[in-house]
Amino acid sequence: NADAAMYRAKGHGRDNFQFYTQELTNTAFERILLETSLRRALDEEDLVLHYQPQISLIDGRIIGAEALIRWNHPDMGLIPPNRFIPLAEESGLILPIGNWVLEAACEQARYWQDIGLPLEKIAVNISGVQVLRSNILEAVKRALNYSRLDAQSLELEITESTLMHEGGQTIASLESLRTIGVELAIDDFGTGYSSLSYLKRLPIDRLKIDRAFIHEAAVDNNDAAIIRAIIAMGHSLQLKIVAEGVETEQQSRFLQELGCDVAQGYYYGRPVPADEFARLFSPSTDDRREES
Ligand code: C2E
Ligand code: MG
Ligand code: MG
Ligand code: MG
Repeated sequence: NADAAMYRAKGHGRDNFQFYTQELTNTAFERILLETSLRRALDEEDLVLHYQPQISLIDGRIIGAEALIRWNHPDMGLIPPNRFIPLAEESGLILPIGNWVLEAACEQARYWQDIGLPLEKIAVNISGVQVLRSNILEAVKRALNYSRLDAQSLELEITESTLMHEGGQTIASLESLRTIGVELAIDDFGTGYSSLSYLKRLPIDRLKIDRAFIHEAAVDNNDAAIIRAIIAMGHSLQLKIVAEGVETEQQSRFLQELGCDVAQGYYYGRPVPADEFARLFSPSTDDRREES
């Protein structure tokens, strides 16, 4: 990897310059290979969505699901999104991949609603590239039409850092999405230093508190204070608050006491394939929690 090569090159002086460039070439070559196989994965339907439940902290019901992409690689098995989404963003492949995610998630949600599962929302992650370099409104409308899912059942998640680095055009795109009834959430909130006045201007419905704060919440006073402040601030702006990365009963109870609206995390359920997700709605949910 390039960083390691750079480190070695620096450590061993200028003689290693050739080694360093060689390593970079390999990296570039590997990137092209990876890009080619990612393109093929899209064509050959090797991309899959897993679904993680979102729980209402008011009554403990599953109210939604977040769709999370994985690459089901023929040799390497399931590859997590952090290992290929950045490349997809740089290469532009995120546009066809993002459209596929939107359509597949909407279709799945509509199917669950059709068979009577009480799923209120499907949450889909959107890359900043999709908002900036494509007509996201058209893509979303197409997915909704194709799947016959109500716009009210779809929520799009955009990271706080994406929102902060983009300007007025992004905000206009997001506003257009809300006019058709789609909800918007800021993902990984608390990591990007948004100011209160900035938040007020954004066309959003929910804040998802980054899991870094949840992790220590019940034992670290500073994290607890941050969560309390985010909940108070969000509620004063009429936003719903979602906590991500809830792993323990203690964290769950703590968030409930603070008035957090929705929670998501391994404690309630890991991201799982669609058929497994549907089974979470059956009455024996608690038994299944023990197994995971
Ligand atoms: P995210 O949207 O913030 O998703 C939450 C991540 O935290 C997921 O990782 C999820 O599996 C993980 N997680 C959930 N509960 C827990 C928990 O209790 N503890 C811990 N330690 N982790 C938990 P995953 O699936 O690997 O996704 C990583 C990131 O990749 C996502 O972060 C999102 O930014 C991105 N991503 C995933 N799917 C898509 C997609 O379809 N499109 C785009 N553009 N990005 C995606
Ligand atoms: Mg997300
Ligand atoms: Mg997140
Ligand atoms: Mg994240």
